[in-house]
Amino acid sequence: MKQDIKSMTLPELSAAMRAAGEPAFRARQIFVWLHRGAASFEEMSDLPKDLRNRLADSYTITVPTIARKQRSRRDGTVKYLWRLADGNCVETVLMRYHHGSTVCISSEVGCAMGCRFCASTLGGLVRRLTASEMLDQVLFTALDDGAAVSNIVLMGIGEPLDNLENVLRFLELVNSPEGMNIGMRHISLSTCGLADKIDVLAQKKLQLTLSVSLHAPDDASRGAIMPVNRKFPVDTLLDACRRYFEITGRRVSFEYTMIDGVSDREEQAQLLASKLRGMAAHVNLIPLNAVRERDLRPSSRQAVQRFQQILERRGVTATVRRSLGGDIDASCGQLRRNYLEDSNVMAKEEPLWTHGD
Ligand code: SAH
Repeated sequence: MKQDIKSMTLPELSAAMRAAGEPAFRARQIFVWLHRGAASFEEMSDLPKDLRNRLADSYTITVPTIARKQRSRRDGTVKYLWRLADGNCVETVLMRYHHGSTVCISSEVGCAMGCRFCASTLGGLVRRLTASEMLDQVLFTALDDGAAVSNIVLMGIGEPLDNLENVLRFLELVNSPEGMNIGMRHISLSTCGLADKIDVLAQKKLQLTLSVSLHAPDDASRGAIMPVNRKFPVDTLLDACRRYFEITGRRVSFEYTMIDGVSDREEQAQLLASKLRGMAAHVNLIPLNAVRERDLRPSSRQAVQRFQQILERRGVTATVRRSLGGDIDASCGQLRRNYLEDSNVMAKEEPLWTHGD
């Protein structure tokens, strides 16, 4: 089987070229072509013809195609549904801010985590993405849109820490000075709370921002909406976050979805504040984006404000996240889901969960 060349790091490519008896600078030439979006070895005009042929015999180059693309009329957010080489689709969102563009990428096709409010997990996990498939989302979104990408968030479909090896490889690729050269401080990785993997990531001492989807401060409420809480309860997770800060020196960011009657009670704000006290943390309050298949509603504006005030008064910094792209299914798995439904693929699938389970 041919090897996926775009998932190779520059040192790996250099070793492969050395082994093939090629001069050292060839690896860098190839790497630069790949990270500019070259779709074939044929295009690599500064490589000798016979090398191009030999590369094509041993390696493949991945290139996704656009299955769907939607642009928000309200705020210019663009959502891509990319079709991968095997026909699977993943979502990527391009958001424009004053300081530059942020690309939100998927790390898996589907998701195994089962969060009750999330559309990405409705059909379960199909497969994990390769490093090049993550890179391609950044690369081809930038090429298609013409946007200068300054930030990346791993907050699309999938659980990045469930695909840690490929995610680490992707980070090395996208951070590479010969490639897209996106600084680690401009990258955020969001996890539903795989505490053991947070410890593994901490040891890599990367300067990225770890974002933890907390969504509730007590095990009863969190367990009811996030099955992962059974394996890693709130306090276990927060301990891992404290260790992450001690080892990396990076403040952890907490995502907190405001769900009516589930996560927005005043005593939950009090409990959250006391659990985060003394911790280098920041809380993002995000009103739930209601998903058609899920019987959960967003909190009222007043409930969100009250929650934020309680946190702030108790010394925990909290911001209410502005929601972009609301008119284009721009949240977690909705576009892929709608696409699969339209193509009738999902027609016979049973829902994993119904309210009241
Ligand atoms: N698996 C990772 C990253 C993907 S989800 C994680 O769980 O963090 C990105 C963020 O969107 C997470 O905080 C997730 O909990 C949140 N999210 C999922 N569905 C949502 C919805 N319907 N409304 C608001 N936020 C949602």
